[in-house]
Formats: sequence, structure tokens, C-alpha cells
Amino acid sequence: MTTSSSEAAIYTYAPHTRPIWAEVSRRRLLHNYRLLERLAGPDADLLAVIKANAYGHGFEGCALALAAAGAQWFGVTCVEEAVGLRAILPSARILVMSGVYPGEADAVLDHQLTPVVWDAAHLEALVEAADRRRAEAGSVRVHLEIDSGMSRQGVHLKNLLLLLDHFDPGSPLRIEAAMTHFHSPDDAAATHEQIGQFTTCLKVLTQHGIRLKFVSAGSSADLLEGASADVNQLATEMGARRMYRTGIGLYGYAPSGQEEHGLQPVLSWKTRVVSLRDIAEGVTAGYGATFRAQRFTRLALLPIGYADGLNRLLSNRGSVLIRGHRATIAGRISMDQTMVDVTDLPRVDVGDEAVLIGTQARETITAADLAQCTGTIAYEVLCNIGERVPRVMAD
Ligand SMILES: *Cc1c(COP(=O)(O)O)cnc(C)c1O
Repeated sequence: MTTSSSEAAIYTYAPHTRPIWAEVSRRRLLHNYRLLERLAGPDADLLAVIKANAYGHGFEGCALALAAAGAQWFGVTCVEEAVGLRAILPSARILVMSGVYPGEADAVLDHQLTPVVWDAAHLEALVEAADRRRAEAGSVRVHLEIDSGMSRQGVHLKNLLLLLDHFDPGSPLRIEAAMTHFHSPDDAAATHEQIGQFTTCLKVLTQHGIRLKFVSAGSSADLLEGASADVNQLATEMGARRMYRTGIGLYGYAPSGQEEHGLQPVLSWKTRVVSLRDIAEGVTAGYGATFRAQRFTRLALLPIGYADGLNRLLSNRGSVLIRGHRATIAGRISMDQTMVDVTDLPRVDVGDEAVLIGTQARETITAADLAQCTGTIAYEVLCNIGERVPRVMAD
């Protein structure tokens, strides 16, 4: 139940027996969800972003746990993800956040998905599919994205009026929410500038008699940092509710450091020592012989490589936890295998658990630590955990 459908398609020929897995803590996921809910307060709703296989955590297990905890809204990237989610949550609201690609409008209607729209092409495709189904006026709810400064998705103020022509009273489409995305949640001035642009666009909607149910703005960092709290007031003035779209916070990470906010990392990534080998001083290990033993060295072999999402930049730099101690990666990470130096560890046996992300005894490695070591962000480390790594829901 915890493997994604694409994974199942590739790996159904055999059960997972390779000792590598990701443990996803239901308790921690719900702790983070409740923490974000409390922060949002009674005047705002949370949309749980579970795009990209729930940031690598396995969307099925996460979606079911969050729905059981009361989550009503889920955000995914695309129609394919949404259809997979619809199969397990028949009545949840599902927001498709990256627009409607050619050929997808029928699936949007058939699976009662809520698309984010900003382009006339999205609207025309949806109207056409709705007309074929003789959908009633206003029965297809969409979230209209406003480009308030991100310049990625969304309609800009200068094109807004033209787009609103598609929402005349007889149209099957209805704007349920106006949405925008902030680019720098850690920069209050930048966020205010975007809120200004967004406000102008909201006024245009109001002048057109569009009554919104939601004003959807702000991701995890916006909620945690409180930089966009003004949007609550804006929503209230319009008779709407504020909606936050939170992803990374649910999984226990925040740009400014998770401890600060009381978030708990949800995913642990584990493997086991599959063999041990002693090499003499001067002997090399791995491709390119980038590791050369400076002394008698004991290497432990781990059945994990860059094809599982372990970034090759961690070669000779990263470490894993074995028996509560750090063991440094020795030599280049291979596609499917990695060696670690366990010479200084008290005792290591074949079968010992090795932690890539998570805690052992008093030591912890987080996705943020790996991200720092490889010059990226925790989001990417988590999303890159490979499809062939089974996700296991744990307490
Ligand atoms: C991914 C995404 C979010 C969630 O962002 P987090 O930083 O993970 O909370 C919110 N809104 C949109 C449009 C997104 O694409």
C-alpha cells in the first residue's frame, strides 16, 4: 500500500528484498500537520501539498494519514498525480497546481479535479470538455493564479481583464479561489510588494462581480515566518477564507531550520551493511581510485547508490550512521553501491542498520544536512530518493 503506482509497474515482478527503505513516520507527519494548522489559526485553511510523491515520502500513505486527520484539500502537480490520488480519496478536494496540459481537460472533469488556471488555452479546453458533458453554468470550479512577481505561472494584471471574459455568467467555469505564490518568504519587503500586486488584481475580480471563496497565498515558509499575515485581512474583507498551501513543513523541514519551529522530520532513509572488507595501507577503493587507504582500513559495503538518489557529490564527504557512530563515505558513490570507512567504529557486523537520513543513538543526519553538503535544498534531497526505494509507513 505504500508503493506508488509507477513503482509498482516496474517492480511488481519481485517483492522488495534489497535492504534499503524509507520509513515514513505517521506520528511525525500528523504532529507537523497539527502544528501548521495551529499556526494558520481558525481563519485559514491548509491545503496539504503532496506533489512529487509527497516530496518523496510516498503519496498514498501520506494522503491517507492526512485525510484521516481531517485534511480536506490536497495539492498535486499534474493530472496524473491527481488521478492516482482520486483513486484512494474519492471525496477530497484535489488542486492540480501546474495548469492543464493539452488533452487533460476531460480527466479534470471526470475525476472532479480542481485545476489552477491562468491561460486562455486552459479555459478553452475546460469549457469545451464541460460543454460536451452539458455541465451546468458555474459547476466547474477553478483556482485562478495571479502572477504577482514570481513570473512563472499566473496571469499578470495587464492580461487579467482579457482572461475574465471567459467567466461570463453562462460559463461552466467558476473562480473559486484567487491564488498567488510568493518568491521570497524570508524577505518581508518582497512579500509585501507581491501582496500589493495581488491586491490590485483581487480588486479587479471584485469589480467584475466575482465572489471568491478562498484567497490562496503562501507556502510553508510564509506560514512559519508570518510574512504574509496581511492576506488574512484581505480575504476577510472579500468575504473569503485564507488558504495556505503547505508542503515542506508537513514533512518536517523549514528553510530557516526545522528545530526553531518545532517541526519533526518525517522520513528516515535506511539500509544495511551487506559485506565487510579489510584493505591494507595504500590500497584504493571505488571508481577512479579516489580513496586510498592511509592505514589498515575496514570498509563496509552498502547496497545504495546514486540510482537510489544518493547524490554522487557526497563521495568521500558524506557520512552515514552505523551503531550510533558516523562512518564516512569512502571513494565514489556507484550507481547501486557505496562503501563507508568503519575502521574507527567499535564493531560492525553484516546486517547492521546504516542510516542515511535519520537518527541513531545521539547522532542525527537530516535531509538539510545532505543538502548543505551537496549545495542544494532539503526539497531536492527528499524528492530524489529513488522510485525503487520502498516507502514504509511507520509509527
Ligand atoms: C510546491 C508548492 C507549494 C508548497 O510549497 P512548500 O514550500 O513546500 O510549502 C505551494 N504552492 C505552490 C504553487 C507550489 O507549487
